[in-house]
Formats: sequence, structure tokens, C-alpha cells
Amino acid sequence: MKTHYRLLLSLLLGTLAGLAAHGYAQLEALQILNHYLLEPIGQLFLRLIFMIVVPMVMSGLILGVFQLSSHQGLARIARRTLLFTVLASSASVVIGVGLVNLAKPGVGLDISQVSHDSGSVSKIAGNAAAAKPVLQALLEIIPKNPVSAAAQALEGEMLALMFFALVFGAALAASQTSQHSRWVELLEESYAACLVIVDNAMKLAPVAVFALVFQSTFKFGYQILFSLGFYVLIVIIGLLLQQTVVYSLLLKAFTRIRPLQFFRQCREVYLQAFATASSNATLPRSLELAEQQLKLRPEIARFVLTIGSTANQNGTALFEGITVLFLAQVYGLDLSLGQQIQVVLMSILAGIGTAGVPGGSLPLIMILTQQVGIPAEGMGLILGVDRLLDMCRTTLNVSGDLVIAALVDAPEHLDAEQERQ
Ligand code: ASP
Repeated sequence: MKTHYRLLLSLLLGTLAGLAAHGYAQLEALQILNHYLLEPIGQLFLRLIFMIVVPMVMSGLILGVFQLSSHQGLARIARRTLLFTVLASSASVVIGVGLVNLAKPGVGLDISQVSHDSGSVSKIAGNAAAAKPVLQALLEIIPKNPVSAAAQALEGEMLALMFFALVFGAALAASQTSQHSRWVELLEESYAACLVIVDNAMKLAPVAVFALVFQSTFKFGYQILFSLGFYVLIVIIGLLLQQTVVYSLLLKAFTRIRPLQFFRQCREVYLQAFATASSNATLPRSLELAEQQLKLRPEIARFVLTIGSTANQNGTALFEGITVLFLAQVYGLDLSLGQQIQVVLMSILAGIGTAGVPGGSLPLIMILTQQVGIPAEGMGLILGVDRLLDMCRTTLNVSGDLVIAALVDAPEHLDAEQERQ
């Protein structure tokens, strides 16, 4: 059986088994099975992948920038990446805000019916309160110590690590007289070794996907969906519109790629993003796919995908826009046009600044909701369904990165073809 079918099967089986087990959640045997077998299996897989994220980002990004700088293509590629990122993020937020204003899923919702998880809410509130002012956050993109940025990369310092890799790659190109330096060889070999680790870790994926999905459905069951079903539906419709309409249009307009075929080639990566709810945990596999199956140019794939895993999160941006306006509707707040525009802009920025880990966007939502005057407890409303929505928005985040990598790569293909003719 092909890998993506195996992953899909594990996803379905994990969901069904978790839902069935949720009804017997008090059974000690089930709790023991979950705690001592399924949780460790899921963690084992995630840890194996997370283990190589930092070496892969470092070697991939330095190499990508080195190669692009050596060919004087860096500025052009960076410009195109930024342009498409802003375009795709803006489209996703506009879709989200449009849908939530049209359908009004929060109007008339009875808050008392929905579970509150005050422990988690105060934890997120604590994280949000610890958030730095914008100027300081911008300054801290330049790390004082790249080693500590690497150590903190998976706790939100990814941008700082990337900044270091960008500067280092460009400086390496400026200081080298030939393409064959020992540094470059070392980085190429490290990158290749990371790919071998991904390949081997992926052998565990079908079992791990079962375990990860089981835990979510086992914990929350499907009852929660009934009270928040409309909101969940609106988020999912928004994500699907972005994936099927916006991405297809972008691919058609700027490349010769057939969207359906492209999406089909990406299936396995989508499934991994869905199961892990983490762009970072999916990055190694996306890099492999982009280079080996999609045949994108390695230096472009490495540059765009690595940066995109943190800086291009269309699903997160769409989700944030919908959620803030949904909560405003629930609490009967009438947001002015100015406030709505603020939500749109902040959601686009949030899509750029969110860490690619499960629940990475929650502290940012807390900040946004507080800015427009929604009570902190509002978060308690959505926490029960957040894992499901996280899985869905992460899939779009990762899909968006691959689409942008293809868009940025396209003119290079065209140039190469024209040269050949
Ligand atoms: N889990 C998302 C990701 O990794 C981030 C988020 O929206 O919470 O892309």
C-alpha cells in the first residue's frame, strides 16, 4: 500500500478508535493504554522529527541563501517570496473575515453550554502577558547569541535562528571565491544526513499518526462539536476555499503546474501536517517532497519552505480573523470598521509571527481578543475544538508554503526552458 493511503487509513482508524474510546474514558485500562503506549509512540515520532528541525533549518537555509547569493538571485527570490506570502495571507484573512461576517456563527450562542477550561486559559493569558512590545520583538529577530536562539528555536525563537542562517549564508557567499568550500560540503552532507533521518522516522508515521489522532479524539470526543459546530464549519469552509480556489488560481496564473496534480503529489505531507498539527514537524518531509517529487530547485525550496514554515501561515491567519470576530459576536461586541481592519492586519501579522508548533497561535489570539475588549475567558470557549482546528489550519499552512515555493520557482523553470530553446 502506498504511504499516503497507509497514513490516511491510520488517520481514520485513530479518529474512530478515539471517538469510540471517549465513551469509556473512565476505564483504567484505556487510560493506561493511552498513557503508557499511545502517548509515548506519538511523542517518539514527534521527537525524532523535531530533533532534526534545527540542523535542517540551519543547513538548508544557509545552503539555499549561499547558492542564491552566488547566482545573484537572492534579492529577486526574496522579493517574490514576500510578495506571494503577503498576497496569500491577505486572501486568507479576507476570506475568513468575509465568511464570519456573512454567517455570524457567534450570534446567539449560549456560552454556558460550552465547556470552560480555566486552567488552560490562565496559562495562555500568562503567555500572552509575557509577549514583548512590537519594537522589542522586531529587535530580537537579530539574536545576540545564535546558539541560544537554536536552543529556543522550537519555543518561538525560530525567526532569530533563521535570521542568523540568512546572514551567515549571504556572508559565506560573499567571502568565498569558489562554490566548493569545505563549509559548503559539510552543510550539504549534514542536510543529506537529515533527509536520511526523515526517511527512517517516516517508517514510524502510520503507527504514530494513529496514536496522535487517537489522543485528540479520545480526550474531547465529538459532543463539543455540537455546540461549536457552526463556528468549526465556518473555519473549515474558509480553509477549503483558500486551498481549492486561491491556491489553484495562483498556481494557474503564475505557473504551468496543474493544481489538482500538484495537490495530489502533496497528499502525504498534508496528512503529516494534519496529524502532527505542527508546521515545524512537517518541514523536513516537505523539503524532501519539494526536491524529490515536485522537482523544485533545491536552493529555492530550501529558502522558501524553511522561512515559510514560520513566516507564511495562511491557515493560522484565516483562523485568527474568524476566531476574534466570532468571539466578539458571542459577547455581543459591535466592532467598528477600524477595529475590524485592525483585526485583519493583526491576523496577517500573526500568520507571520506564529511558531509552527501545536497551539502556536493561541497566545496571539489572546492578545488580539484583549485588544478589541473580549474577556480572557472567551478562549475557554474555543479550546475544546482547538486541536481539531489546529490540525486543519496547519495543513493549509504547510500547503501554502509548498504553493509559494512552486510560484517562486516557476519563472526560473521558464527561464531555463527558454534558454534551452
Ligand atoms: N499549529 C500551527 C502550525 O504549526 C500554528 C498554529 O496556528 O497554532 O502551523
